[in-house]
Order: sequence, then structure tokens, then C-alpha cells
Amino acid sequence: MLPREVVEATASAVLDYQGMGLSLMELSHRSAEFKPILEEARSLLRELLDVPQGYEVLFLGGGASMHFCMVPFNFLKSKAAYLNTGTWASKAMKEAKLFGEVVEVASSADKNFNYIPKGFEIPADADYLHVTSNNTIYGTQLHSDLDSPVPLIADMSSDILSRRVDVSKYNCIYGGAQKNLAQSGLSFVIVKESALGRVERTIPSILDYSVHIANGSMFNTPPTLPIYTALCNLRWVKEQGGVAEMERRALQRAETLYGEIDANKMFCATVDGEDRSYMNIDFVMAPGYEELEQSFVEYCASRGVVAITGHRSVGGFRASCYNAMPLEGVEALVDCMRSFAKR
Ligand SMILES: *Cc1c(COP(=O)(O)O)cnc(C)c1O
Repeated sequence: MLPREVVEATASAVLDYQGMGLSLMELSHRSAEFKPILEEARSLLRELLDVPQGYEVLFLGGGASMHFCMVPFNFLKSKAAYLNTGTWASKAMKEAKLFGEVVEVASSADKNFNYIPKGFEIPADADYLHVTSNNTIYGTQLHSDLDSPVPLIADMSSDILSRRVDVSKYNCIYGGAQKNLAQSGLSFVIVKESALGRVERTIPSILDYSVHIANGSMFNTPPTLPIYTALCNLRWVKEQGGVAEMERRALQRAETLYGEIDANKMFCATVDGEDRSYMNIDFVMAPGYEELEQSFVEYCASRGVVAITGHRSVGGFRASCYNAMPLEGVEALVDCMRSFAKR
């Protein structure tokens, strides 16, 4: 979900950007109109996440999966550590194996990734530890930045700007924009400059973070319209009170929905305790009620509550509660759960 005003601002820019009689889609990325859009988006992401000096913010085409490859290309000298918390983490690991030794420090595959492993050992000679901060499919989340003897690198596709982050613990934070920032076609990257340039391999220019930094995130034509949407959304986040306020709302939505899931005898959550995601809330019909799954989806749809079907690898339901989801949206789902159970 995106804020309605962000969708409307994008639509208006497509039709006529600031009364120019031109669509934003018709403007050169090197025009006097587009450059300030990119620069404000870069500086707002920096400001909202409190990104320290020595880091650069980039908006690049392609999605998170591209960085599964770019990250090891740019940062893996000989050995990297990966925490395997699901499909996306596994895909990131698969790419890293093309570049060097990959140590899986822990995995929650034994329980269909319904928890975040704890107490694992991180090899002190690894170039980095890669984590997926929010597991969009399985509904688990790391609610704080891990303590690690080696720098962290994180895929924050689905929880960027929903909680405060200590960026100084990371060499790189990246993600696809389409979960919590803008539409598809765009990715964001926060890179620590001093961590670059340490690998010996030759990196193709388009996959080299240093090249993108040297060119001000304009090495090639960036996805201009998604960057404009991202800018409008970043302005919205700032107006609402910044990341601290997004965090407060996320917790409130999560408490409301998990509260009902735990209280309602017809439903149960797939994740327990502190590992529960505030962004993607997964639940299923409780034992004995499984055959009612489809009729619950239909019941919700008849009351305007849509897009709650779970990912095929978990089943059941997934309520994605990204930044723009109002508490009323969660309350509408809770109402459906209560009245369905009563019926
Ligand atoms: C959706 C998602 C991806 C994949 O993103 P693409 O932009 O499609 O490559 C990767 N990681 C996480 C955590 C995701 O939620």
C-alpha cells in the first residue's frame, strides 16, 4: 500500500509535470527538472534514516535481486557469512557462491522459516554478514541491528523506513522499492564508501557501486517515474513524523492484529513471540477450521478487505501492513475475523 496522496501526485506528474505541458515520463533524466527530484530523494532518505557521513545513497534500476549479485561482486573478497531466514536469503546466498566461500551461519529451514535463528557463531574472518531484516513471505523480522564482529549487509526490501536503523553497523543496505517505498522497477542502496574498492576482481561498470557513486546515481538512465514516487513518499514519511512515527504505527497495527489472531479461536499465527514481523503478518485457520479458509477470503472480500491471501509457501493469510496502511485497515480485518467467527 502507498499513501493515496503519493499515488495521486504520481498520476498528476504523469499527465502534466508542474504545469509544463509535459509528462514527467517525457522529461530527460538530465533535465533541470529531474535532477532536483533525484537529489532531494537521495538526501531525504539519508536524513530520514540518519545515514552517517561516509555513506552514499543510490537509486538504481532493477530490484533487490540484482543486489544479491552486486553485493558479493563488490564486497566479497574470499568468504562471506549469510543468515538463512527464507526464500530471499537463500537466493542471495546462491549468488554469493559464485564469488567465494559462503558460510551459512544458521538456518530456520527446519521449521519452514517460522523463526529467526539465535546464538549462532559468526566467523570473524568473513568479509560481511548478510541478513534479510524482514522476511516478507514467512512473516519474521529482526527488530534490532545484530551485534556482529564483521560488518553487516542487509536486504531491507520490506521494512525500510518502518523502524530506526543504526546504519553505522552496515557496509550496505539495499532493497527493491516496491514494498515500502514506491512502485517496482527501482531499488535503493546505502553504501559505505570506505568498504568499496577492496576486491581484486574486475567489476563490470554497471554492477560497480563505485561507478554509480562517481556518477551521482546517474551512470545510466535511472527509472525516473519510480524515483518521483519515492520522493513523494519520502516527503510523506517526513511530514507524518519520520521513521520514529512509522515505527510507532507499525507496532500499533501489529499489536492490534496479533492480539486478535491470538484471541480468536478460529485463527492462529504462524510465527511466535519476538520474531513476529510488524510488516507482514501471517496467520492460518486454526486446526479444525482449515476447510473455511476460502470462505474467509471471500467473506473479507465482500466487506472490502482484499489481498490477504498468504504466499503459496506458507498458505493461509498474509496481511501486509506497510507504512501507508492506516490502523483502520487493520481494524477492518479484525472486524471480519470477529464477525466471521461469530457466524
Ligand atoms: C520482494 C523481495 C525481494 C525481491 O525483490 P525484487 O525487487 O523482485 O528483486 C527480495 N528480498 C525481499 C526481502 C523481498 O521482500
